[in-house]
Amino acid sequence: MADHDVDLFVIGAGSGGVRAARIASSYGARVMIAEEYRVGGTCVIRGCVPKKLLVYASRFSDDFEDAAGYGWTVAEPEFHWPTLIANKDREIARLEAAYTGTLERFGVALVKSRAALEDAHTVRLATGARVRAETILISTGAWPHLGPKIPGIEHAITSNEAFHLAQLPKRIVVQGGGYIAVEFACIFAGLGSDVTLVYRGENILRGFDDDVREHLRNEMRGRGITVTCGHTVAAIEKSGDEFKVRLSDSGVIAADKVMFAIGRRPNVMGLGLESLQMKIHGHGGIDVDEYSRSSVPNIYAVGDVTNRVNLTPVAIREGHAFADTVYGGKPTPVDHTNVPTAVFSEPEVGVIGLTEQQARERLSIVDVYKTSFRPMKATLSGRNTRSFMKLLVDGVTDRVVGCHIVGPDAGELIQIIGVAVRMGATKADFDATMAVHPTVAEELVTMREKAMSYGRAVAE
Ligand code: NDP
Repeated sequence: MADHDVDLFVIGAGSGGVRAARIASSYGARVMIAEEYRVGGTCVIRGCVPKKLLVYASRFSDDFEDAAGYGWTVAEPEFHWPTLIANKDREIARLEAAYTGTLERFGVALVKSRAALEDAHTVRLATGARVRAETILISTGAWPHLGPKIPGIEHAITSNEAFHLAQLPKRIVVQGGGYIAVEFACIFAGLGSDVTLVYRGENILRGFDDDVREHLRNEMRGRGITVTCGHTVAAIEKSGDEFKVRLSDSGVIAADKVMFAIGRRPNVMGLGLESLQMKIHGHGGIDVDEYSRSSVPNIYAVGDVTNRVNLTPVAIREGHAFADTVYGGKPTPVDHTNVPTAVFSEPEVGVIGLTEQQARERLSIVDVYKTSFRPMKATLSGRNTRSFMKLLVDGVTDRVVGCHIVGPDAGELIQIIGVAVRMGATKADFDATMAVHPTVAEELVTMREKAMSYGRAVAE
C-alpha cells in the first residue's frame, strides 16, 4: 500500500520477533524491526543461554568430587567467577552479532530504538521519527517483577542482575519457587554459595507433578540448599556489608545478596496500547487468537508479551506461524498442548503432558508407573542421589499422557519422549521398544509394575 513505509513493523528483536521478521521477509514482505536494548531478547541476552552456561559451570563441582571414586586425583579445584562472567559475556556478544547478521542477510531493517504505537498503523521511534506499517507485530517479551513493595526492596536483585554480579555471593537468599528461583538456587549452590530458597507455598514448582516437586526438593536439600516453604521475604535490611532478610513469620537470614524470582510481567506498558483500546487479558498479556492476532485487526503479538506459554521455543513457533499465516498464505494456529519443558536444576527436571492430578481429573482410568533409582554413575562416586521417572497412562486407550523425569539429562530425554507422546504412543509401544543398556533412559521402557491405578466411579 502506497502510504505504508513497510509491510511489517516488529517491536522487539527477541526470539519470537526475530523469527517472525526473518520468515516474513523471506516471503517478500518489507520488514523493519525495532530493538531498544540488544538483539536476541531475553533468551539470548539474559535468559536461557547465559543461564545454561552458568548451569554448566555449576555442575563441575560435582564432577570434580565424583571423579575421586573413579580413581582420579584432582587438585583442590578453585572457581573464579569473573572468568566465567567474562567468557559468558563474550559468547553472548557473539550470539547477538549472529542474530543481527541473520536480520541483515534476510533484508530486515533494524532500528536500535524504543518504539511505541501512535495509532494502529503508525510507530513512533525514540528519535521522534514515524514509520507507517500495514501490519505490526508486538514481541516485547516480559520483565521480572518484584511483587508488593516491602521495606528494603531496592536491595533485591533479579535474574537480570544475577548475570552481572561483580563477585559470587558467599550467602544468597533466593525468593520464589518457579523455574528461575530453582535454577538459580542450584547454580549458586553448585558454584559454592550458601543458598536459602524462600518459597511462599507448600512446595516448590507449583503446577508440576507432586512427586517431581517432592523429589527435587529432597535432592536440593541433599546438595546443601536450604529450601524453606510457607514464608515470604517481608523486609531486607542493610547492615554493613550484609543484608538481614526478615521473613513473614519472624525468621531472619543473613545474606550477601537477595534475589527475587517471583514471576515476570508482560512488557505492555508505554507501547500506546491503551489509546488503541487493545484487549489485555486477566494475566496481563495481550489478548490474541490462535493466529496471534490481537483485538486490533492489523496488530499481532507473540511470545511472553501474550503470557500464554512463556518459553522460547513457543515464542519462536508463534513468530513463525504468524509469518506463515500473514505472508505465506498458510494459516497456521499454534498448538500449546503437550509442550515439553525442562527445569535446569540439579538434578534436572523434564516433563511433558499431564500431571497425576490433572490425569485423575480428566480421565476415567489412570495407570501410574513410577520408579526411583540410584543412577549407575553414583555407585562408584558414592554420591547420594536418586533419579525419578513417572509415566501416566490413560487406562482406557493405553496412551501415555504424561512423562516426568528428575535426573541427569532430563531435558534431553524429554525432548525425545515428547515426539512419542505427541504421536500418541501407548504404554504398549513403550514396552515394545527395546531398552538401551545400560542407560538411565531404559527405565522408561522397562517399567512394568503399576504403582497405582485410579478409576472413577461411573454414574449409574
Ligand atoms: P514463575 O511464574 O515460574 O514462578 C514465580 C514464583 O514466584 C512462584 O513460585 C510464585 O509462587 C512465586 N511468587 C509469585 N508472586 C510472589 C510474591 N508476591 N511473593 C512471593 N512469591 C511469589 O516465574 P519465574 O520468575 O520463575 O519464571 C518466569 C517464566 O519464565 C516461567 O514461567 C517460565 O515460563 C520461564 N522460564 C523458563 C525456563 C525454562 O524453560 N527452563 C527458565 C526460566 C524461566 P506460587 O507458586 O505460589 O504462585
